[in-house]
Amino acid sequence: MKNISCMDMGVTCPFVAEGETPEEAATKLEQHAAVAHPEVVQKMAETMTPEEMKAAMIAKAKDATPPADVTPPAAPETPAM
Ligand SMILES: [Zn+2]
Repeated sequence: MKNISCMDMGVTCPFVAEGETPEEAATKLEQHAAVAHPEVVQKMAETMTPEEMKAAMIAKAKDATPPADVTPPAAPETPAM
């Protein structure tokens, strides 16, 4: 899993886009930004092509693997009646 947050793109917003690939996460962030931050998208569009914007988002993608030290609690044993 990969994720890209709005914060990574310099937008003060708690949204984090997740995807199996950086491209997928970028697509989700793109869709979110179009709805939530149209003014930011518009401003970026003045200096960048859509392809460049997506590449910039992909460049910010991070691994979203859960911390390895968190082990799920053991399943409680159900007493046999
Ligand atoms: Zn956002």
